Amino acid sequence: MSVATENTTFTSLNPATGEVVAEHPVHDDKAVAEAVARAREAAEWWRDLGWKERRLRLLNFKGALTRSLQRMARLIHEETGKTLQDAQLEVVATITHLDWAARHAHKVLGPRSVFPGVAAINHKATLEYHPLGVIGVIGPWNYPLFTPMGSIGYALAAGNAVVFKPSEFTPGVGVLLAELFAVAVPERPVLQTVTGLGATGAALSRAEVDKIAFTGSAPTAKKVMAACAESLTPIVAECGGKDALIVDTGADLEAAADAAVWGAMSNAGQTCAGVERIYVVEDVYDEFLARLTEKARGLRPGFDREADYGPVTMPGQLEIIERHIKDALDRGATAVVGGLESVRRPYVEPVILTDVPEDSAAVCEETFGPTITVQKVKDAEEALAKANQSSYALAGAIFSGSRSRAMDLARRMRSGMTSINAVLAFAFVPALPFGGVGESGFGRIHGADGLREFASPKAITRQRFALPGSVVTFSRTEKDLSRVLQLMNILHAKQHKR
Ligand code: NAD
Repeated sequence: MSVATENTTFTSLNPATGEVVAEHPVHDDKAVAEAVARAREAAEWWRDLGWKERRLRLLNFKGALTRSLQRMARLIHEETGKTLQDAQLEVVATITHLDWAARHAHKVLGPRSVFPGVAAINHKATLEYHPLGVIGVIGPWNYPLFTPMGSIGYALAAGNAVVFKPSEFTPGVGVLLAELFAVAVPERPVLQTVTGLGATGAALSRAEVDKIAFTGSAPTAKKVMAACAESLTPIVAECGGKDALIVDTGADLEAAADAAVWGAMSNAGQTCAGVERIYVVEDVYDEFLARLTEKARGLRPGFDREADYGPVTMPGQLEIIERHIKDALDRGATAVVGGLESVRRPYVEPVILTDVPEDSAAVCEETFGPTITVQKVKDAEEALAKANQSSYALAGAIFSGSRSRAMDLARRMRSGMTSINAVLAFAFVPALPFGGVGESGFGRIHGADGLREFASPKAITRQRFALPGSVVTFSRTEKDLSRVLQLMNILHAKQHKR
C-alpha cells in the first residue's frame, strides 16, 4: 500500500526521455511516524500468523509479482532507463530470492535444540530466532526492486513488518510492490511504502523502528547511522563498491572479456558490485585487452529495444563520470575505447582506460558509469594486492586457468563476495549472503545470514531434573565445588599434541 497524507508531491521522470512517469506524495515526519505506528500493529498480527501461514502468503506475494512481471519491468525500465530486458531479469532475480526466503525461513529461524554441554547436561537448550518488529528499508534506484527486496523479502520472511522508502528516482516501483503485497496479504499493512526525497528517509531513520536496512551510498549510510544512533536503532548498510576483476594466466580470455564488459557496462555501469577495475597478468594482457576493447566498441546505449544499456539515471552522476575520465587522462592514462567525448547526456558510451595511476579518482572512487580501468600486473599476487587496496570491499571476480589458485585468491580477496570464472554470480544464489566490508558497509542480506539479520536470537533453557551437588546454590559445599574443579582438570587440562 502507498501512504498519502500530504499535499506536497514530487515527480519521477524517465531519465532517457525526460517525460514524467508519475507524481508521488512527499511523506513528512508525521506521515512516516503514522506508517510506523500502523506497521507496529501489523507486525504483531504477522508474527502471530506463524511460519506456515506466512510462508503461504509470501509464496502468494511471489505469485502476484510473477503475474505482474511485465508491468513491474516496464515501470523499472521507465523510471531507471535500463533496458526492458534487464528490467525483466531484475524481476526474475527478485522472484528467485523471495521464493527462497519464504521456503527457508522456518528451517533457518525456527526452534532447534542445541547440546547443553556437560556442565548443564540436566537442561534442555533451545535456540530460536524471533522477528525484530518493524524494519525500515531505505532503497536506491539502480536495482529499485532487486536491491531493497534483498532486505524486504528476508525481513518479511523472518516475521517482521516493513516500511519501505524507495529512492526518489524510482518511487513507482515501491508503490507497485506494496500494492502487489496487499494482493496476498490484504488484512493488515505489513508492507507499506512511503515516498519522498532524502528527508523522508531521514524521518524513517529517526522513527525508532527496530532496524534500518539501508542500501545506497556510503556518505548517506553515515548520516543514517548517525540518526539511528540517537535511539540505538541497529542498521544494516549495503553501500557502494569499486570491485576488481583479476585475469590470471591460463584464464579463458574470451569468457573473461565477455563477463568483464557485461559486469562493467550493463545497466550503464550502475551496479554496486559491478566491475570497475581490471588487473591482468602480463602474459595474457595484450590478448585480453584486444578482446575487451572489441566487445566494448560494439555496445550502444539507448532507450530502444536493441540498445545494450540505458542512460545514466541520475543526472548528477554524469559530472562524476566526466571528472574521473578527465582526471585519469590528465594524469597520463590512455583511453583505448572512448574518452571524454563519450559523455553524451543522458548517455555515456563505453570508456576503457589503461595506465591509470592507482591513486586517481577513476581507480579509488566509485564511478558508477560504463567505464573500466585496465592495469597490467606482473602476476596474480600483484593483482590481488592492488585489488585489495580499495577502501571499498563489496565483491570481485577472478578468471584463472587454475582452480586451486582461483580459490586461494578468492579467499584472500578483501570482499564480501567473489565469483570465479563469472561476474556477479553470487547475487543469483539465494542461499549465499550478500554484503560488504569497509566503506561497502556491514551486515548481510540474502541467504540464512540475511534472514538472521532481521531476527533476534532467543536462548531458552529448561531444567529437566536437578543435579545432586549443584554449585549454583548457597547450600553448596566445598566438596561440591572441588568435584567441579576436578572435572575441569579431567576435561580441559590436557596438552593437545599435533
Ligand atoms: P543514495 O545514498 O543517494 O540514496 C539512497 C537512499 O537514501 C534514497 O532512497 C535516498 O532518498 C535516501 N536518503 C538520502 N538522504 C538520506 C538521509 N539523510 N537519511 C536517510 N535516507 C536518505 O544512493 P543512490 O544514489 O540511491 O544509490 C546508489 C548507491 O547505492 C551506489 O553507491 C551503489 O553502489 C549503492 N548500492 C549498493 C548496493 C549494495 O547492495 N551494496 C546495491 C545497490 C546500490
